[in-house]
Order: sequence, then structure tokens, then C-alpha cells
Amino acid sequence: MSRATRLRGSTRVRGGLAPYAAREELSRGRRYPEPRPDFRGEYQRDRDRIIHSNAFRRLVYKTQVFVNHEGDHYRTRLTHSMEVAQIARSIALALRLNEPLTEAISLAHDLGHTPFGHAGQDALNHCMRPYGGFEHNLQSLRVVDELEDRYADFRGLNLTFECREGILKHCSLRNARRLGDVGERFIRREQPGLEAQIANLADEIAYNHHDVDDGLRAGLIEVRDLLEVRLFGREHAALLEQYPGLNDRKAVHETIRRMINLVVSDLILTTRERLQEARPASSEEVRKRSKPLVGFGAAVLEEHLELKAFLRERVYRHHRVLRMTAKAHRVLEQLFTAFLERVDLMPETHRDAAREAERAHGAAGRARAVADYVAGMTDRYAILEYGRLFDPAERT
Ligand code: MG
Repeated sequence: MSRATRLRGSTRVRGGLAPYAAREELSRGRRYPEPRPDFRGEYQRDRDRIIHSNAFRRLVYKTQVFVNHEGDHYRTRLTHSMEVAQIARSIALALRLNEPLTEAISLAHDLGHTPFGHAGQDALNHCMRPYGGFEHNLQSLRVVDELEDRYADFRGLNLTFECREGILKHCSLRNARRLGDVGERFIRREQPGLEAQIANLADEIAYNHHDVDDGLRAGLIEVRDLLEVRLFGREHAALLEQYPGLNDRKAVHETIRRMINLVVSDLILTTRERLQEARPASSEEVRKRSKPLVGFGAAVLEEHLELKAFLRERVYRHHRVLRMTAKAHRVLEQLFTAFLERVDLMPETHRDAAREAERAHGAAGRARAVADYVAGMTDRYAILEYGRLFDPAERT
């Protein structure tokens, strides 16, 4: 092997992969065949296309729980996606799985998210109910398959099957039936590859822990509320025993850091054990299983769910968050209704897309194009559009 070949990223990674890792030479390929890249692997190319997409850049102005302009230190969807990728890559590496694929899936997983986090998704789903509903996972796939339309040779980003499969975390059976290859596993009740399973749980780990951090920062919860949550309480107590008198800022950061470390380590060890027991010979064998192989041990799973329940009760249902989500709901619903009624109020490209979709698919097509426009907005753009449409004093 020449030195140049050895230095190629893909070659270097492939040498150390476990038999059940995704391998690009066994990939089910891209929708539009392309020549192999010269100096990077196929999954690295996926990741690079995701990073260069418009939808990825917009993640910086989209939020999860807290609306963008509330403060400069809260997570946005961009920093969240990077945290997911970082956690997922560490796990993939420890399990000798395909790191570039894991990273690509993680970075793309939220590309289809609406403005205003979950409130936006609920609002748009409500608006789209007569036209087939709105699922953010499906929208992420739609972004990479259809809506990012800037390449000369194909529509979308033309990602590999494995990356697209990983992006589509959940999907209704009705939608699965019309999706073709990536929908099949939902019909057969099979699993995605291990890299996708990791990205999925890394997402949960990331948002659980950063919502604790952001919730504290926003003053929605206090450290003493969190002491009742076993995972937090135990790590916090152990920390203060080790460093009595540590200031609050450091104590919170250290506790969260240790919680993530504990949960991630448990996930790696549990998954490694399951893999040793199941001994799948390939990624295809992983897919045929009825249950995922990546997961937490029983004790950590229980604590992970306890933390989730705490956040739901104390953070996501806090009156300040509920007010924000109610407002978000109103903004998106009114934008959607106004554009659906008159598509010529949208910028030309979206207006034309809506007219074309209506010719092809009737009212549902028109509504889908409006939903695409609204879903693509950042928080601040949605607020601006709202002002332009409904505030007489605002410039149009
Ligand atoms: Mg996420």
C-alpha cells in the first residue's frame, strides 16, 4: 500500500472497523450514482454536503426549548447538533463503528426542524392535518432529498442510503409505504444500522443534559430541585464531597459533565456486551433484528427516564416556556394560514413551488409547499415575516 493511500481518511478508518459497522464498500449507494470521491470516504462526503447546506446554517437561529433571543448562552439547534455529533462519535469510535457516518447522521438529524422547537412542530402538524400531517423527521429527510436544490446533477444532497436511513428516526406506516427503500424497515419492523442507533440515543443524552443546564441558566429550575433526580443528586453529592465549597457555576458544570460521562460509558459497555452476545456478522444482520442493540443498562435507563420526566414536568411545562410555545403556535398557524390562502404572498421561488405542487398534487401539494417554506424559517425570520404580514407599522 502506498503512503498516499494509507493516509486517505476512509482507508485509515476501515482498517479498524468491527464486522457489524457500516462499510462504504457495502453501501446501498446514492439515489443518483456518482463517481467515488478521490480523497475522502463516501460518508465523509455526506457529512461535508450536510455542513455546506443552507438548512444546516439556519440551525444557528433555531431553538429547542428557549426562543433564540432570550440569551446568548442557550443552545441552538446548531450547537445541539454539534453536541450530538461529538457524543455519538465518541461512542462510535469506542465500539469500532463507522465514525464519519455517525457524525453525518448526527449533524443532519434536526435539519427539518421548524422554528420555535417542539411548539413549531406541533403547530405545523396541526395545520397540515388535513393534508397528511407534518413530521420533523420526515422533513429532515425531505430537506436532504428534495429541498436543498443546488447541485447540477441531482436534486437534494444525494446522500448515501445509510445516512438517509439514519435521519429517518421515526415514521408513520402510511408515510413509510410511500418512501421506498428508507421506509421498508418500518413496515418490516426492523432496525437501522448501529451508527443510526447511536445518533438517536446521543440526541437524547445531549438534550436531556443541556436542558438541565439551560433550565438552570434561565432560572426555571434550581439546583435544589434537581437534587431529587437520582442521577443529578448522586453525582452532585459525590462532587461536593470531593471538592467542598466548590462554587455553583463549577458545581453545575462538573455535575452535568459527570452525568454525561456516566450515561455514555454505560451505553458503550452495555452495547458492547450485547454485541458480544448477539455477534452480528454484518450491518445487515443488525438490521434484521426486532430490537435495537444500542442501549443503556437497566439501572441507567431508569435514571435517564427519571431525568426526562423531571424535565417534562419542571422545564417544558413551566409557565414561561408554555407562554412562549403558545405564542410560537399562534405565529406559525397564522403564517401558514395566510400563505395557504394566498401563495403569492410568499417569495417567488416558494410561490412557484406551491403552484407547481398544486398542479401535480392538488390542495395537499400546495399545503406541503407552504409547510416547507414555514418549516425552513428560523425563529427570527418567522417573527419578522409575522410582523411584515400582520403589523401595519412594519415594512413589508
Ligand atoms: Mg435533536
